[in-house]
Amino acid sequence: MTLTAKTLTAKPATQRLRITLRGAVQGVGFRPFVYRLATELSLTGWVLNSSAGLVVEVEGPSEQLSRFEKRLEQERPKASVVTVRESAWLTAKGSTRFEILASDHDSGKTVNVLPDLATCNDCREELFNPANRRFEYPFTNCTNCGPRYTIVVDIPYDRPNTTMRDFVLCPACREEYQNPSNRRFHAQPNACPICGPKLDGTIEDAAEALLQGEIVALKGIGGFQLLADARNRDAVARLRQRKHREEKPFALMMPSLEMARSYCEISPAEVQLLESQAAPIVLLRPKGGTDIAPNVAHCSPYLGVMLPYSPLHHLLMQECRFPLIATSGNRSDEPIAIANDEAVVRLKDIADHFLMHDRPIVRACDDSVVRLTRGRAGILRRARGFAPLGIHVGQNLPPVLAVGGHLKNTVAIGVGEDVFLSQHIGDLETVEARQAFERAIDDLCRLYSFKPEVVACDLHPDYASTQWAEKSGLPLIRVQHHQAHVAACAAENNARGAYLGVSWDGTGYGLDGAIWGGEFFHVEDNQFERIAHLRPFGLPGGDAAVREGWRSAASLVYAALGRDSVFLESTGNAVADARVIYMLERGINVVPTTSVGRLFDAVASLVGVARQNRFEGQAAMLLENEIGPLRIEEAYPLKSGDWGPLIVAVIADKRAGVAVPVIAARFHNALVNWILEVAAKAGLKQIVFSGGVFQNRYLTEHAAAALESRGFDVYTHQQVPPNDGGIALGQVVMSGRQ
Ligand code: ZN
Ligand code: ZN
Ligand code: FE
Repeated sequence: MTLTAKTLTAKPATQRLRITLRGAVQGVGFRPFVYRLATELSLTGWVLNSSAGLVVEVEGPSEQLSRFEKRLEQERPKASVVTVRESAWLTAKGSTRFEILASDHDSGKTVNVLPDLATCNDCREELFNPANRRFEYPFTNCTNCGPRYTIVVDIPYDRPNTTMRDFVLCPACREEYQNPSNRRFHAQPNACPICGPKLDGTIEDAAEALLQGEIVALKGIGGFQLLADARNRDAVARLRQRKHREEKPFALMMPSLEMARSYCEISPAEVQLLESQAAPIVLLRPKGGTDIAPNVAHCSPYLGVMLPYSPLHHLLMQECRFPLIATSGNRSDEPIAIANDEAVVRLKDIADHFLMHDRPIVRACDDSVVRLTRGRAGILRRARGFAPLGIHVGQNLPPVLAVGGHLKNTVAIGVGEDVFLSQHIGDLETVEARQAFERAIDDLCRLYSFKPEVVACDLHPDYASTQWAEKSGLPLIRVQHHQAHVAACAAENNARGAYLGVSWDGTGYGLDGAIWGGEFFHVEDNQFERIAHLRPFGLPGGDAAVREGWRSAASLVYAALGRDSVFLESTGNAVADARVIYMLERGINVVPTTSVGRLFDAVASLVGVARQNRFEGQAAMLLENEIGPLRIEEAYPLKSGDWGPLIVAVIADKRAGVAVPVIAARFHNALVNWILEVAAKAGLKQIVFSGGVFQNRYLTEHAAAALESRGFDVYTHQQVPPNDGGIALGQVVMSGRQ
């Protein structure tokens, strides 16, 4: 007691405080901000960027130091993300001024690399101000905005470690770069028309080409984009045909929020997402009767919309003033092109016109996709604007590299308590995609000077990622697909203690060799007990049934009502039906599955909404879309996951002429009720949803609301996708507990 009193009274008037901040703290103007704040409060000391984070030492009267601490948190740069903050009191050193010290390169690389940031308001104003020296300069940026992840070669994030190293700053830019009170102080990609990157071609020509219905390849931030006039049906059709993309919706770039409002319903939360620094594609509800060509989104319930996020996009959209399709510059299933010479070769049969520049892109980064679910932003594709921000999981991780799944692949590494997830790489279907996957692994490890000691992969023996892991020569941890799904969701939500994991998707390799996808796990201390699952059924033709949902329909009808009903309910050809019945009767090439995704396919096929998936999850999406604004409570029976009575009821409704939206709603409600049934039995308060099926907003929101009204806590994905793009995160955290 006396000691405390004595310490307090003996506290010297001048103290020194060291604060270390980790997270996304470099390249966002943090040092000049600290400099201004310390100077304003008459504190002395220094600030420096180290590869372990941002370190500040401030010295002065203790009240001023508390003020400094408080304002450091409250007023820090908007783009910064602080994941860990440590402070320590030191003895005063009697320093006389405050300085910004040179970066220190020694400590371990645990600092986050920042994602690319959308053009800030200040830069945008300068861009359109004829009196400004950067008027209409397509590469302007400052510490609050501009490219980061796509130009950084190594960390720490300093100009010589970026693709801007070959552009020598002119005197005016250098002055800005060196002046702590300037918005461009240490803005690594700082540039102007005199010293910076230049366009190869003109914005006017590109805009004219678009207006003429041509397809333009534009070198953007994370790679080439293919652009077309979204109002021009022929142009859109040509793009689909050349890109080999049948019906998957295209995203749009709109010149302004005002124009986006004229095409879509946009809530205030969605405005925030559109205008955020990540500037992702936001899935919005389209208004009817607009001039957007019908083949842009086909029957999708959403229109993916983004706003211009680089000065080049701003200038082009200012010239066009109409909505453009902006899709990744690749042929389907290939990675996005990033280099000029590569793009000219790979995109020559797709694009009619190119607009390029001479600022190199280090790594491909697609546009991210976000949608509001349960009133919160949920990422569906995590790339530009988010990658490679770390996800703090609050558990110490081993040096593990996780190679993810097969579709929508991402890879991840565990560093300390953070998981660094790569940008979306794509489906590992082609040689090019598998090369991109290998590049992403090398890149992530090199950037963080990371040497994996273990590799985590999926159980599926045929995944290209699993095969890579097997050849890596490192100790292997095989993680079951659906366990990885829920572990990822629990980790990003920092859910502690036991939970019920609801893991529903299209396909994943089960512990028994069957195709799982309708699983419930009781999870406690990393022990996964599969406590419930969908009643298994046969998938005739295996992988073929993933594309052709009518096969699942035939199988379920065959099991529930017998072979004659298959012919009655089928809308397709009798020969194909007969072949499937033959397979089912003899068990030839029939793979057992518990997949809820395939159950969606079957119901969508039975009611005539979709007989096949032209892209992953299409039939389920169309079935959800059928519900529209309809709100009904009735549900089909799905007790204990037995789909038999459900299939009988669906067919009875269909024969009775019940409207498809009603059938769709009753089907979704059946799934909600089944979750409630299992949750009531499991006796766990925390419920975690994951897997591609939970991209279904109706299902997610209704199930979450029903559980919450019964006192459960529900966790859904926000920072990583519920689809297989989130698998790598789950693999990392599960390796950490083994
Ligand atoms: Zn800016
Ligand atoms: Zn310059
Ligand atoms: Fe999955």
